[in-house]
Amino acid sequence: MNHINKIEHLGIAVKNIDQANFLYEKLLGVPPYKQESVESEAVITSFFKVGDSKIELLASTEEDGPIGKFIAKKGEGIHHIAFDVDDIKTELKRLEQEGFQLINETPKKGADNKLVAFIHPKSTNGVLIELCQEVPYVETFFDE
Ligand code: ZN
Repeated sequence: MNHINKIEHLGIAVKNIDQANFLYEKLLGVPPYKQESVESEAVITSFFKVGDSKIELLASTEEDGPIGKFIAKKGEGIHHIAFDVDDIKTELKRLEQEGFQLINETPKKGADNKLVAFIHPKSTNGVLIELCQEVPYVETFFDE
């Protein structure tokens, strides 16, 4: 079994989701296929398909949310790389044992029907890494 299947998406922090949607639609030639807010993260996200990968635009709904803080510190730009995995819990355990610093010990519900967990950029040469696992019924997963 592969540990990491592929780059699932690149996350890009933007100030204004409408402006960025317009720009990326022009760039990629397709409109976003989904826009979704993740309240726990104080973000609005929109997703574009690019071949087998995706671009995720993230805009903060609160100034002191994670994306708001990121933009205040570094400006707009690439925020994270997300890798697709088959079994996020096993991968988190493996990476922790390998010495990576986990931001999320257990996966949480992310956008786009995914379970997600982040690895701290301190332990990955300055790049925030997201692991994501597709789950068609996220609510069910957490009720178990
Ligand atoms: Zn993401």
